[in-house]
Amino acid sequence: MTSLRRLVLGARRGVVFTGAGISTESGIPDFRSPGGLWSKYRPIDYDEFVASAEARREAWRRRLAMSEVLDAARPNKGHDAIRRLVDTRNVSTVITQNIDGLHEASGVPKECIVELHGNTMYAECLECRRRYEIDDVRRRFERTGDAPSCDDCGGFVKTATVSFGQAMPEAAMRRAEQATLAADVFVAIGSSLVVYPAAGFPVLAKRRGARLVIINREPTDLDGFADLVVHGEIGPLLEALWTPDVGDSAAKGAL
Ligand code: NAD
Repeated sequence: MTSLRRLVLGARRGVVFTGAGISTESGIPDFRSPGGLWSKYRPIDYDEFVASAEARREAWRRRLAMSEVLDAARPNKGHDAIRRLVDTRNVSTVITQNIDGLHEASGVPKECIVELHGNTMYAECLECRRRYEIDDVRRRFERTGDAPSCDDCGGFVKTATVSFGQAMPEAAMRRAEQATLAADVFVAIGSSLVVYPAAGFPVLAKRRGARLVIINREPTDLDGFADLVVHGEIGPLLEALWTPDVGDSAAKGAL
């Protein structure tokens, strides 16, 4: 089996694609694992957010309840390893489904990151795009009991994320596609690869000739399509790219 180290450290225009699994070791639950967010809440889709004041209040209650976890989260070994791959120019672009800002916090330059689903660490007016900080929203919410609207134009203020039913951000999709088409190696890390259109990028990369690597704790629907699949814990696996004596047994086997 082609080794993970040879593929990843041999990449010249590599793309890393991350999902919620890269951040679980930072204390942020993923969506689909047992006890994850998915099993707790039915998502509030975009149309509902726009149509209903109660849906907006509920969306903000949920977001503010997550603040303690999100604010305390720090980049983990997996994020650090990805930053190192960007530093060494093995990887040109980090495409992420995550909304936690941890790739940027790990030191990956902003211009190398594509946030396909936006960012929940700040908010924006849906009409004029004015930015609002989460602490500011919290103060307003606590004062009025209502979801905030924009001081400038009265539009609804929502986390800067892409909700179900909301259009994907065009510029981010374009950048992700360009990097994917140019990729020689495409590494999908910590994603169940079921959320589309994001999960279309690994498929596109492989069809255009990139070697496709999947790193995840459990099988994904695309495992049969990949050149290399490694099942294990992300942090130890990625750290072991440079320190082969460290890491779990899955890491040693794959390396
Ligand atoms: P997902 O929950 O569907 O899949 C995560 C995958 O990672 C699972 O298959 C799980 O087995 C695996 N995993 C979890 N921890 C792991 C670890 N330490 N090592 C190895 N594998 C691990 O997540 P998704 O595919 O990203 O889709 C969920 C959607 O929810 C995304 O679009 C994202 O926008 C959003 N989301 C984001 C965050 C975040 O920003 N941190 C958290 C939850 C959900």
